[in-house]
Amino acid sequence: MVKRNVRVIISRGAIAITAIVCSACDSEVPSVGFLETVWVPPAEKVEVHSLGQGETFGGLLYGAVDANEQEEVLRAFQNYADPRRLRERTNVVLRYRAGTNKLRSVDVAVSKDRTVRLTRVDDRWRSSLVQTPIFVDTVYATGEISETFWGSVVNNVDLVEMTFEDRNLLIDRLDNVFQWQMDFSRQIREGDSYRFAFEREVRPDGSMRDGKLLAAEFVNLGVPYHAIYFDPNGDGYGSYFDLDGESVRRAFLLKPLSYRRISGRFSSGRRHPILNTIRAHRGIDYAASIGTPVMATSDGVIIHRGPKGSFGNTVEIRHSNGWVTRYAHLNGFNRDVTLGTRVRQSDVIGYVGMTGLATGPHLHYEMLQNGRHQDPLAVDLPSGDPVPADDMTRWRAEMSGRYELLKTIPGQSPLRTFEAEAEDGRASGGLQQGEGA
Ligand SMILES: [Zn+2]
Repeated sequence: MVKRNVRVIISRGAIAITAIVCSACDSEVPSVGFLETVWVPPAEKVEVHSLGQGETFGGLLYGAVDANEQEEVLRAFQNYADPRRLRERTNVVLRYRAGTNKLRSVDVAVSKDRTVRLTRVDDRWRSSLVQTPIFVDTVYATGEISETFWGSVVNNVDLVEMTFEDRNLLIDRLDNVFQWQMDFSRQIREGDSYRFAFEREVRPDGSMRDGKLLAAEFVNLGVPYHAIYFDPNGDGYGSYFDLDGESVRRAFLLKPLSYRRISGRFSSGRRHPILNTIRAHRGIDYAASIGTPVMATSDGVIIHRGPKGSFGNTVEIRHSNGWVTRYAHLNGFNRDVTLGTRVRQSDVIGYVGMTGLATGPHLHYEMLQNGRHQDPLAVDLPSGDPVPADDMTRWRAEMSGRYELLKTIPGQSPLRTFEAEAEDGRASGGLQQGEGA
């Protein structure tokens, strides 16, 4: 093992910190000079194992230590994890004292971020937990949409340092934040734009552990939508508000599927072939692969769950104020959801299929109020609580800080409008948005 000190410096991060990463800090390797010859001890023996199917940690130790010691190692391990509950492919590293067959230490990667380190100290086994160091940085991106929102984010040059997988996760986060305002699969127009500031937690290998959208703006047909993170209680369970402190939450999700599961994620200019082949009807069809989870778009009670003529397997939910939603052509239902079950918004009620009269796997979704069809994309019913009055001062301070983050990104018109108005003195305090422009 080579002693490694890696300095991680993130220049772009607003919240960047410097982390010192040290792997195998306890290994005694002399530093090597440039000129003088140094004595190098025999390399220690290191074995890297990956637990196979049915293989146990105890079994792996068998042969490396005797039965008594094996028990002691397992007991030390139990301080942090259950040795019988290790996943298949768990990484286990055995280190032996140089030149001997005497086991010196064992590392067990119990999760992506936690390693249990077992070390022999004076012939007794001790355990400790090693946390993967993470650093936090902020990623900024801006883009204009020419075809799909997905393509625009995945191919965004601002995000080159993120893996393809992480860029997809980012799209999920954006979808989660805008799911009440914007159906990215339906309502996108060419020339729509976005910008956002995203706080990442990153492991030393560059993979993202977690992330949180701090501030985002989406401009659809010239109308800006904002989502600014705010955590009134400081407990990590914050939510999103627009620039006026109104919650972005609405009584109904715009779509019952997550954006990334919708096939083609097509933009408005291009219609999905399946849609045009289906007879005229008053719902929205979402092409998605069989088995894609279907969510209740609002709180309510299940009033139908079963076959329904050409709709095939169908769920209907009754909501307050005479609203009913319908989800058709399902492949199957969530087992926990039956007639009379109360569901919450975003609960999974069933899975996409092609039962009934359907030419391909898709979800047929309808909204009715007092028996009349309504356009799901046109219903706008606020539901979330605004920023509490007591928190207004802190909200204004944090919100303008996060809004500033957006302003550092090369601008598009709505922000410029906003700034122009602020300079004119018409928008005081930089808290109102220039929607009238
Ligand atoms: Zn349909």
